[in-house]
Amino acid sequence: MSNSTSTPGIAAERLEGPALKDNFSDLHAPLSDHEALVAADRCYFCHDAPCMTACPTSIDIPLFIRQISTGTPEASAKTIFSQNILGGMCARVCPTETLCEEVCVREVAEGKPVEIGRLQRYATDTLMAQGEQPFERAASTGKTIAVVGAGPAGLACAHKLAMLGHDVVLFEARSKGGGLNEFGIAAYKSVDGFAQREVDWLLGIGGITLNYGQAIGDGLTLESLQADYDAVFLGMGLSGVNALRCEGEELAGVSDAVEFIADLRQAEDLRKVEVGRNVVVIGGGMTAVDAAVQSKLLGAQDVALVYRRGKEAMSASLYEQELATSKGVRIIYNAQPMKVAKSGKALSVEFAYTKTKKGKLTRTGESFNLPADQVFKAIGQTLEGAPDALAIDGGKITVDENGQTSVAGVWAGGDCASGGDDLTVTAVAEGRDAALNIHSTL
Ligand SMILES: Cc1cc2nc3c(=O)[nH]c(=O)nc-3n(C[C@H](O)[C@H](O)[C@H](O)COP(=O)(O)OP(=O)(O)OC[C@H]3O[C@@H](n4cnc5c(N)ncnc54)[C@H](O)[C@@H]3O)c2cc1C
Ligand code: SF4
Repeated sequence: MSNSTSTPGIAAERLEGPALKDNFSDLHAPLSDHEALVAADRCYFCHDAPCMTACPTSIDIPLFIRQISTGTPEASAKTIFSQNILGGMCARVCPTETLCEEVCVREVAEGKPVEIGRLQRYATDTLMAQGEQPFERAASTGKTIAVVGAGPAGLACAHKLAMLGHDVVLFEARSKGGGLNEFGIAAYKSVDGFAQREVDWLLGIGGITLNYGQAIGDGLTLESLQADYDAVFLGMGLSGVNALRCEGEELAGVSDAVEFIADLRQAEDLRKVEVGRNVVVIGGGMTAVDAAVQSKLLGAQDVALVYRRGKEAMSASLYEQELATSKGVRIIYNAQPMKVAKSGKALSVEFAYTKTKKGKLTRTGESFNLPADQVFKAIGQTLEGAPDALAIDGGKITVDENGQTSVAGVWAGGDCASGGDDLTVTAVAEGRDAALNIHSTL
């Protein structure tokens, strides 16, 4: 992505290689063997463990922590992977502060939870380093299922189906698997090519054929998949982005945060990624935080993240917000973009201050301007390319509690499907559960 010709304030090489390497290193260092034992020792192995209930994939957390305590991290990893085959990535990206760790009894009593996420990473890394898949396939059922999208939902669905003895043909629009694990997650959460290593490891189960560069709506139709396969699962995520709907959003220098992050994630050399000196990010979710933090880490001087409502309403957790401010991002709450204008060689964004009255967002009548070389839109993704035959609910494919769509023989899960949070772990849970339902239906 290069806007530098028309917006001179956007440039590459704002920082030297060593500084970038440092800035984009692992957000949380992996635990050593000794640290893992100490961390595991803090668990009370609660009966009716609240952490387990809070996990969307229902991992048996006390069991896997006990297995670490007893010096069997491989068995611990198997406990994790039996519920969540992307347990390695989830250990890195789950907002544990609002899931398992939030309800851990040690968080409630002492304000310091058991480090469930880091322990999960310790166990899964240990087993994955040995290379082998811990699961075997059941005897062949003779059925073949089409899975669309090789993101967390599609991969979890494909793996579970393969384990149950089905053959799977996976269709992926891009030239790489992993979905947003590869193209979206912040670089410092998934270092050293982990997303691709995880895809390769997961495919080691066998029985899954991955076809890259094949998209539904672009040569591939739902009808042809229905005709050729015993069932279809759609895990195509949300590939469109919402418009700001304010004057000037088409100006050079204004772009999608998701696209910026994808370019950054795919860059072989971070020095080549261009960033403004003054960056304004508009939005309130993980994408907004990640675009703002990574702009700062690339060397932007001033990064403002502007959200239209208050702190509590922001969908990025308080932890994520604190992470942003700790990296030097300025968060401005209660401000709505009104207009982007050209101001000399750079841009200027006009914001109106807002307040929430009886749940309704209103403008206060005051406004302010922020100078910017680069403006990122991060106000949510939208469903694109969903087959016309499917019922849509709130902009997503309508599914029931089993992931079944309105069309018989077609399931959907992950971000593209109705219900659930847009999180990696939720996509994994929905892909897995749809696979179980496909299996019992077939
Ligand atoms: C910038 C960003 C940061 C995030 N950070 C976090 C985080 O830190 N923690 C967290 O838990 N969640 C995070 N999320 C959310 C998380 O990444 C998603 O919820 C999750 O990836 C959804 O998985 P999915 O499989 O449904 O979709 P995706 O990951 O989007 O995968 C969908 C796949 O389908 C493919 N595809 C799309 N259309 C077609 C088509 N027509 N035909 C064939 N293939 C198609 C896509 O190329 C893609 O590979 C983040 C999201 C973004 C955008
Ligand atoms: S709630 Fe905390 S202490 Fe209890 S089992 Fe879960 S991790 Fe262990």
